[in-house]
Amino acid sequence: MSRKANDLYKAYDLYKEGSALLKKAGITDWEYDCRVLLEWTCGVSRMDLLLEPDKEIPEEQKNRFLSYLNKRALHEPLQYLIGEWEFMGMPFKVNPSVLIPRQDTEVLIEWILEREGKHCVETDEKQELKLLDVCTGSGCIAISLDSMLPARSGKRVNTEALDISKDALQTAMDNNILNQTHVNFIESNMFEKIDRTYDIMVSNPPYIPTEVVEGLMAEVVQFEPRIALDGMEDGLFFYRILAKDGRKHLSKGGRLYLEIGHDQGRTVPEILQKEGFSEIEVKKDFAGNDRCVRAVFPG
Ligand code: GLN
Repeated sequence: MSRKANDLYKAYDLYKEGSALLKKAGITDWEYDCRVLLEWTCGVSRMDLLLEPDKEIPEEQKNRFLSYLNKRALHEPLQYLIGEWEFMGMPFKVNPSVLIPRQDTEVLIEWILEREGKHCVETDEKQELKLLDVCTGSGCIAISLDSMLPARSGKRVNTEALDISKDALQTAMDNNILNQTHVNFIESNMFEKIDRTYDIMVSNPPYIPTEVVEGLMAEVVQFEPRIALDGMEDGLFFYRILAKDGRKHLSKGGRLYLEIGHDQGRTVPEILQKEGFSEIEVKKDFAGNDRCVRAVFPG
């Protein structure tokens, strides 16, 4: 921005210049991101921009806007800049220690709510469902299910969630408080510290092959936690553990729900089948890509 320090800054001018800067930096949704940052730093909403384009922005707010804008121009994710993001209509605190909750993962949650709702009608033997979320990150899966599954299944839900990262767990615990849910968090490298069995196991593990991680967009590769993305050589490392060790922690007839990469719709079911899982199904996301797998552990 090439203005003199004592110039007055009008809201719409800031928006125009800010969005042009983001566009030049190659930010995909430059106008949206600029509007969000303007609202976040200066309290100027989209409606304000239309109704009061000449509103003067105080120097201090303008500087705040510019500093966030410059970070965004360097591809720092919008979600980390504003520190909070919505998942399943619920607020989640996010920071670089956790993966940003994705819309694709909402497909997994909706599927679980639908299937476990049905399951309850079909086989109504238990009063309480024990649920484990493996690699919980921000806690978005465990927390949204802990909040929504009781009403959908007609049962009490006892939710636990694990992660290897202390920092991720701290964020997940903050999110548990923020959403007034009752998830119990466990610091554990996969199943190392787990000694009970569950009716439902869910996981969105790191599933990107190591050599693919480097080629991901700057927002992801430079800012999101590598540990939450990297699924080792072929991207299937954690699915093998989930199948092999996860089955030891599923009750008879327990259900395993996984998010998978778009090209893992054949390999992950194969791994599950080898470990004795049955009724394996694959579900697509909004873009038509394979995205979720459901399997039953017959016991
Ligand atoms: N469970 C979290 C999510 O779905 C984190 C997943 C991960 O770290 N791979 O966003």
